Amino acid sequence: MTMVMENLMEVRKNMEKACRRAGRDPKEVTLIAVSKTKPLSMLQEAYEAGARDFGENKVQEILEKYPGMPADAKFHMIGHLQRNKVRQVIDKVCLIHSVDSIRLAEQIEAEAEKKNLQVDILLEVNVAREESKYGFFLEELENAVIQISKFSHIRIKGLMTIAPFVENPEENRDIFQKLNHFFIDMKSKNIDNVSMSVLSMGMTGDYQVAIEEGSTMIRVGTGIFGAR
Ligand SMILES: *Cc1c(COP(=O)(O)O)cnc(C)c1O
Repeated sequence: MTMVMENLMEVRKNMEKACRRAGRDPKEVTLIAVSKTKPLSMLQEAYEAGARDFGENKVQEILEKYPGMPADAKFHMIGHLQRNKVRQVIDKVCLIHSVDSIRLAEQIEAEAEKKNLQVDILLEVNVAREESKYGFFLEELENAVIQISKFSHIRIKGLMTIAPFVENPEENRDIFQKLNHFFIDMKSKNIDNVSMSVLSMGMTGDYQVAIEEGSTMIRVGTGIFGAR
């Protein structure tokens, strides 16, 4: 068995354990294999081991890898997306996790209309208000959801956050809790065109805590493909 296969098995086992601790059904949580900087051969290896969802943070890498993967492999855009690159990528990804401004959403709407597409997105939230990170602040989020929900070629599926880098994942628990509360609250408002079914949070260092706090999509890179 290859390293990637072993790692995938390990991550899936940990996911199940975290779900069990939280009384959740493992089917509620999707594993995204974050393959940024890794060669196509490693994505194919993960595919062989059952991975279908791949996370990338650069448009150029998606364009390069996309043609080399089977048709049922799905790409997720998880990195900051420049407006001038929207056109190239919107028909290659199943979900854009990193919508961090109204202006970016406007651009997605315009390009999606030209291509006659419905584009699924998440709004990125900077819960910890880190200078170095993109995303809406929590207090900006409701207004952003309402504005973007008016775009007819965009479907808001939920929220995404990148938690701070910490030694002990417990330090991020309150961040995940906070975002989950907001997620549940936004869902209960039943805004037209907004389903709030996806909560993308948790990476290699903290995905088990994120699952315990309600994550429905975890993005694991190093834990599957090794150090970058
Ligand atoms: C790189 C990256 C990940 C994966 O990080 P690991 O710590 O390697 O699991 C997850 N989410 C985003 C947005 C990333 O850029």
